Amino acid sequence: MERHDWVIVGSGFGGCIPALRLAQAGASVVVLERGRRNTAKDFRFSWDPRYLLTIVKALQTEDFSSFFRYGNTLGGGSVVFSGAMLRAPSEAFDALDEEGAPAWPASIDRAALDPHFDTVETMMGVRQATWDEVPKTGAVFAMLFDRMGLTCDRGRFPYEDCRQCGFCEAGCRFDRKKSLLFNYIPAAEEQGAQFRTEADVRTVAPHDGGFRVRYATSAGGAGEVWGRRVIVAANAIETPALLLRSAADLPGLSEHVGLHLNNNGDVAWYWMLPEGRFPEFVHHKGRTNAVMISYAYWAEHRISIHTGCPPPAVISGLDIHREGGLPWGLEHKRLMHSIYRNRMLGALAIGLVPGWGRVRIDGDGNAKAALPMTEGLRAYINRVVGVAKEIGEANGAEVLRTSKDGYEHADAHPLGTCRMGDDPARSVVDPLGQVHGQPGLFITDGSTLPGGTGVNPSLTIAANAERIAAHLATLGAP
Ligand SMILES: Cc1cc2nc3c(=O)[nH]c(=O)nc-3n(C[C@H](O)[C@H](O)[C@H](O)COP(=O)(O)OP(=O)(O)OC[C@H]3O[C@@H](n4cnc5c(N)ncnc54)[C@H](O)[C@@H]3O)c2cc1C
Ligand code: SF4
Repeated sequence: MERHDWVIVGSGFGGCIPALRLAQAGASVVVLERGRRNTAKDFRFSWDPRYLLTIVKALQTEDFSSFFRYGNTLGGGSVVFSGAMLRAPSEAFDALDEEGAPAWPASIDRAALDPHFDTVETMMGVRQATWDEVPKTGAVFAMLFDRMGLTCDRGRFPYEDCRQCGFCEAGCRFDRKKSLLFNYIPAAEEQGAQFRTEADVRTVAPHDGGFRVRYATSAGGAGEVWGRRVIVAANAIETPALLLRSAADLPGLSEHVGLHLNNNGDVAWYWMLPEGRFPEFVHHKGRTNAVMISYAYWAEHRISIHTGCPPPAVISGLDIHREGGLPWGLEHKRLMHSIYRNRMLGALAIGLVPGWGRVRIDGDGNAKAALPMTEGLRAYINRVVGVAKEIGEANGAEVLRTSKDGYEHADAHPLGTCRMGDDPARSVVDPLGQVHGQPGLFITDGSTLPGGTGVNPSLTIAANAERIAAHLATLGAP
């Protein structure tokens, strides 16, 4: 069997960061990635689901109330994300879990991650957007806050000379979004790490003092490699699924695998702006994240608020409605036509919620996700909608919600399903990412984050992966 010091599953933030650090330390590293090696020439200006599903996976929750999307391509979520890379505020690390216990290990807080935030920002070229880079949608968003005497500012992105074409979530055709394909992955390859794409890892099992990793190839074949040590970084939906598929071979695996799924407290809505009170804009032009962010409600509600300008195809798929109901038929069409271009402003709140959801596997070993509408979640959503209405009312705008009775549309930030913890009885991995009871098996992706990040999570996932990788790089042969 092919043998390596490290086998890494997944090439997103959690996978390719340790790949680089371990290869730099002289280890032999192979990364197994389910998706294809797509580059600018493969990306399209298209929201056609048949195209999007070649680079993104979408998983409906079991009760169909919501769904999750995540990258399925070399570079993982970094290739299809909207690029907002923000540091989790200090208070995020004080969050409590569903049982009221501290969610994060005592040793991990903002100060512990700051040096690793620095490293990731330097590696990826993350910087604050300039005023010239704020799309009109972001400017109108800023006006809503400004008219209330509240603040907001420009977010931070790994973008260079962005052309504002608005297709970030379909992959950047201009190579202006500096995803992991431009930094960590080529740097790791330069150091000798191999990235094997179209390799869907099915199981991990202890074998010969290390682990045997079995995968299926997209051509219908199968492969296996042996790793002295293994890192699973397949994201917060797929990592627990892989562990659960392998559970028979991993005795003592924590019962918490797959539990504590949270969606980072994302709640999305639109403001229907009054006629004539704001400058002209077309809400889906610019970037898929229209740059501006406000922490004005952080102190009171622990939420940050972001501009969204989702593409027409996404909007047309949403269950957008108005309290009291939208008109039906022709009247509805006329209303949407009159507000669609420049009176609909998308927004997303991100906040701290405990992980009430779960991931399990079906009979074929594939992931199934559930995000039940608990009392706590309903209360949180109502609180966020209250804030949206407060801002709306102050500006003569009405809130259009994105779901009638299920979860408001917000699907891109699953976290928490293999959470880190100090207590092995209540967590899946220790604070250095090692799976309890499985020396040599590690997890470094978004599944390990035990709570929400209060902002878009990728930078915190990446900094945490840098933190753990710095430790792993010091490990010699067992
Ligand atoms: C449309 C969209 C927009 C987003 N916008 C933002 C944003 O603006 N800012 C932000 O911070 N976050 C954003 N996110 C979220 C961000 O992309 C994720 O939080 C982040 O990528 C998660 O990192 P990860 O390492 O946990 O997993 P991923 O980046 O998802 O990487 C996991 C990798 O593992 C691979 N994989 C999965 N299963 C297997 C298997 N069985 N075998 C082999 N490989 C496997 C996947 O193909 C993937 O490449 C967005 C996400 C989406 C989908
Ligand atoms: S908006 Fe900018 S970063 Fe996004 S796809 Fe277009 S050029 Fe690339």
